[in-house]
Amino acid sequence: MSMNERAADTLVIGGGLVGAAVAYGLLRAGESVTVLDEGDVALRASRGNFGLVWVQSKGDKMHEYARWTRGSADLWPEFAGLLAQDGGIDPDYSKPGGIHFMLSEEDLEKKRAQLHRLHNSLEGQEYGAEIIDREQLDAMLPGLGPDVVGASWSPHDGHASPLRLMRGLHSAIAAKGGRYVADAKAEKVERDGSGYVVRTAKGAFRGDKVVLAAGHGNKWLAPSVGLDVPLRPEKGQIIVTERVRPLIPMPTHVMRQTAEGTIMVGDSHEDTGYSDASTSSVVSDIAKHAVRCFPALGQLRVVRTWGAVRVLSLDGFPIYQESATHPGAFSINCHSGVTLAGAHALALAPMIARGRLDASLDAFHSRRFEHATAH
Ligand SMILES: Cc1cc2nc3c(=O)[nH]c(=O)nc-3n(C[C@H](O)[C@H](O)[C@H](O)COP(=O)(O)OP(=O)(O)OC[C@H]3O[C@@H](n4cnc5c(N)ncnc54)[C@H](O)[C@@H]3O)c2cc1C
Repeated sequence: MSMNERAADTLVIGGGLVGAAVAYGLLRAGESVTVLDEGDVALRASRGNFGLVWVQSKGDKMHEYARWTRGSADLWPEFAGLLAQDGGIDPDYSKPGGIHFMLSEEDLEKKRAQLHRLHNSLEGQEYGAEIIDREQLDAMLPGLGPDVVGASWSPHDGHASPLRLMRGLHSAIAAKGGRYVADAKAEKVERDGSGYVVRTAKGAFRGDKVVLAAGHGNKWLAPSVGLDVPLRPEKGQIIVTERVRPLIPMPTHVMRQTAEGTIMVGDSHEDTGYSDASTSSVVSDIAKHAVRCFPALGQLRVVRTWGAVRVLSLDGFPIYQESATHPGAFSINCHSGVTLAGAHALALAPMIARGRLDASLDAFHSRRFEHATAH
């Protein structure tokens, strides 16, 4: 197999939201970058997600994740602006705050306790989410069903168009001189002197560093650079309605109105392996729950439904790590690639460009799973 003539500072394997955000950040940091992407036949969480840039409730049990998520939400306004400027595509980001509905007093109290824990874990930094009662909620979001007793609310939450984000990242990568190679599934990652060679059907590519950002593909690629990445699939299904006048002024954890006027609804968590099939029973449960929260949705026509497979680590938190045995080989996975795109491009990529992850990311290393069993 012939070696592709142009070597890059960094090869990024995977062109989904995670690989594309990192590649864009590396280019901004002045590196030359080649993105090797398997293409549309692969599982692509990046094309099937809900589009929330979501902070509230994230990081219970891992305060580093709470901080990292909040940091990414804080970076998003700058990130969205840079992306529009560099790639010419606005990801339709807005941050009107976000709401998580509570349908019973018991759930409201559980959420209150969770927010209290999160607040305490941040050692003084305000967590920025609070419980609001039905009256406060009505003032923010009129038209709720009688079963909604209250909500948690965070001004740091927002949403974006995931498809425009993907296109914007790829357009910005091209504009910054990055190279994107489609249908280039990485078969093997091998050492080559102090760098790496990645073998694909499109030839072999060389880089001084390599970033594994292949979603579920990382599980199979990571051992070739001495890493173990235990991941599991989890299906989520989404319903999209026809376009309507502005109805829902801010995103909620189960529904959001897009910039085009459609309403996306969804929040299923299904253990169905790597299947991304849409199933009528789950779609109907999602619709019932949504109409219970917001009855006006019952009048709208559904135009599309789909399923997509989340990329989850065993504890649900991201994995960021450099291989100890293969310096310059990094592996990245997360289950909130929209939310974390700001941090991936503007905080994580500069660390990779410098050749070392900051100690603040130590908690995200997969050594935390050493005593766990992948399922
Ligand atoms: C239903 C659902 C709802 C979601 N909602 C949200 C949300 O509201 N907010 C949020 O922040 N996140 C959300 N997510 C999560 C988000 O979509 C994912 O975190 C993100 O898409 C993961 O991106 P990725 O690049 O790691 O993986 P993927 O999108 O799977 O991309 C991986 C890429 O790597 C390529 N690849 C795989 N193997 C190889 C290989 N060997 N060689 C080369 N290329 C390879 C594939 O072709 C693909 O392009 C949701 C996900 C789902 C499924």
